[in-house]
Amino acid sequence: MRLVDSHAHIQADAFASDRAAVIAAAREARIERLLVPGWDAGSSAAALGLAAEWDWIDAAAGVHPHDAALATDSDWALVVQLAADSHVVAIGETGLDFDRMHSRRRRSSPTFGATCASPWRRASRPSSTAAPRPVGATRRTR
Ligand SMILES: [Zn+2]
Repeated sequence: MRLVDSHAHIQADAFASDRAAVIAAAREARIERLLVPGWDAGSSAAALGLAAEWDWIDAAAGVHPHDAALATDSDWALVVQLAADSHVVAIGETGLDFDRMHSRRRRSSPTFGATCASPWRRASRPSSTAAPRPVGATRRTR
């Protein structure tokens, strides 16, 4: 069985003093791949830094829905820029989270849509696919 930790915020300040030990312990526990998602622009950049340092660690770049209200245009531009790096294998954190409502729906919904429509998404599409439909669009079937 292959072990993959799909959500480890080891770039967080809480791991500042023992990050190397935590990474070593994960490897000793036979974790084969470890995905470090960012929750804002800064943590996404830090995730990329770890992924660049360790060949078995991958990064995800994104803004958590709870932080969507705080993200500036330059934050979003940085996330899109980071997402183009080969060490970034996913967009995340991202999505719609209406559980605690740290960001209003009016703020998080458009930012999620912007993430879905980002240049990273367009660039990652196989060249043989048809043009993307707008987010939320449905295809008519007969
Ligand atoms: Zn998380």
